[in-house]
Amino acid sequence: MIIKLKNKVAEEQVSSLKNRLLKQGFELHESIGESTHIIGVIGDTSGFDIESLYAFEFVENVIRVQEPFKKVNRKFKPDDTIVDVGGVEIGGKNIVIMGGPCAVESEEAIDEITPLVKEAGAKILRGGAFKPRTSPYSFQGLGLAGLDILENAKKKYNIPVVSEIMSVDELPYFVEKVDLIQVGARNMQNFNLLKELGKTNKPILLKRGFASTIEEWLMSAEYIMAGGNPNVILCERGIRTYENSTRNTLDISSVAVIKRLTHLPIVIDPSHAAGRWEYVESLSKAAIAAGADGLIIEVHPNPEMALSDGQQSLKPARFASLVQQCKKIAIAIDRTLD
Ligand code: PEP
Ligand code: MN
Repeated sequence: MIIKLKNKVAEEQVSSLKNRLLKQGFELHESIGESTHIIGVIGDTSGFDIESLYAFEFVENVIRVQEPFKKVNRKFKPDDTIVDVGGVEIGGKNIVIMGGPCAVESEEAIDEITPLVKEAGAKILRGGAFKPRTSPYSFQGLGLAGLDILENAKKKYNIPVVSEIMSVDELPYFVEKVDLIQVGARNMQNFNLLKELGKTNKPILLKRGFASTIEEWLMSAEYIMAGGNPNVILCERGIRTYENSTRNTLDISSVAVIKRLTHLPIVIDPSHAAGRWEYVESLSKAAIAAGADGLIIEVHPNPEMALSDGQQSLKPARFASLVQQCKKIAIAIDRTLD
């Protein structure tokens, strides 16, 4: 339940309302903006007479929240959330591009690609150290050594880094070494992992599971926020449908739905959606036009030799040209891509 108060109500008055609700066993979350003062009421309100709240003269409106997610709900926090990732803001007017290889393959490979993606316009370097591969015989990533390589690149090239966590065991290393912790599609409903991430204050890039509804995805974000971590960025990476000409179907409509339902930022991963490098530019442009706050794109200097996902990785020059194309779209919709 969400209670919207009239403008400029004295704190003593608000306390009388809050005390009544607290006595009834509800948890309260207050959000005070420039012209809005909202109290989110968490708990089972099904048996509560919401009309009775209008007895408080300063209550403007009471809304029963239908959705099961509360903290991620835009009704609770109308203003867009901006997440600071090592000094790069995601969720504001500026669109942020992240780029880099699917996997951290070696120190030399990261040394080669990082200046190239940075020069092309990427603000955050991506690279998987722990790789969730369908086959146990495929390259599994360099593990902790991969995180060290990313940490070195972050310092050497002054660029924040994002990498995927697969198990709670590695959380202390991720907290120390990366700026943005990615939860992959396969772990979107690893609730133990989400709960532990909720106890940190690290920015989290929460990918949508390939067979998950938007509501399930937002409930996973709710797990992180319920633990006390507000720094969640959503990432649409395509869902599994009957269509098999692309690796996944990019659910571009999720951008519009997410923008309505939640205040959290959303970025698009066109690489894992498309599964082929030829489609990545088109999907990227569509994502920006639809209102996404950023993109995460796989880039490799030599995709033919990549240890994973070479078929969907862009060569650096193509990535640079994609960024320029996306910039034009950003300007056309009154945003920036700087
Ligand atoms: C990745 O980003 O490297 C990855 C494995 O993505 P997803 O979890 O979306 O499949
Ligand atoms: Mn990949």
